[in-house]
Amino acid sequence: MNFGSGHGCHYSEGSVSGLPGVDLNRNYPVDYGTEEGNSDPCAQNFAGSGPLSERETQAYSDFVSSHQSDLKFIINFHSFGNQFIWPMNGKSPNDLEQKAPGLLAIFRSISQKAPFPSGYGFGNSYEVLHQQIGGDADDYVTTKFGIPAVTAELGTESDYGSDHFSCNSNLQAFHVTNSNQYWVNYIFKTLPEISQALKNKPAKSESSSTSSSSERSDKYRYDYSSSSGSYIQHKMLDTNLEEENPQSNMHKGLE
Ligand SMILES: [Zn+2]
Repeated sequence: MNFGSGHGCHYSEGSVSGLPGVDLNRNYPVDYGTEEGNSDPCAQNFAGSGPLSERETQAYSDFVSSHQSDLKFIINFHSFGNQFIWPMNGKSPNDLEQKAPGLLAIFRSISQKAPFPSGYGFGNSYEVLHQQIGGDADDYVTTKFGIPAVTAELGTESDYGSDHFSCNSNLQAFHVTNSNQYWVNYIFKTLPEISQALKNKPAKSESSSTSSSSERSDKYRYDYSSSSGSYIQHKMLDTNLEEENPQSNMHKGLE
């Protein structure tokens, strides 16, 4: 969306409100436009002129759609807040269990077993931020494609400069990424178990060698027990994030 200079928004230096533009993480077609104030083009959480109205969200949707049989788990990286946020974000109470039975157990297990930096918050956006987010990317990916998708808010406010868009220093950037690599690696290494738990997944192109899904359900079914100990033992590894290829989601807002 191009506003040009005469957009009529009132921006004050150092603020993140009053800038024209679309909050891409409000632009997806699940519970679209349900958030208060997000029809205001000057608002930080402006949802756009309609679902998937933006080229960026269209491109993201197209990418996930065309790679859905290869994508096992999607982490959208945001900043900041030290939070691990799972769907559904547009509804309170969370209706994830109705939309994707069993998936909540997977996210909860990750939150309990993965080595997050201390002080992390876990839950959907209402539980973590007291905010119902309509048009969220994770809600869309999870329900449309059956791919588990979460958002990680990396770092704390003090990690970032006054413009809120960059780290204070290279060292600070290293600290944020380094302290978050371990839980990312945990998810990466438990992907076989998570994928195994996903049965009757809507992504039709890949038929797992172990699955014998004679019946096909429109509802996603995840057979997963967080107490079964099926997660492999996590080892702290001296690896870096290069082996990961998470989808990053750029947007103008902080959260
Ligand atoms: Zn965010």
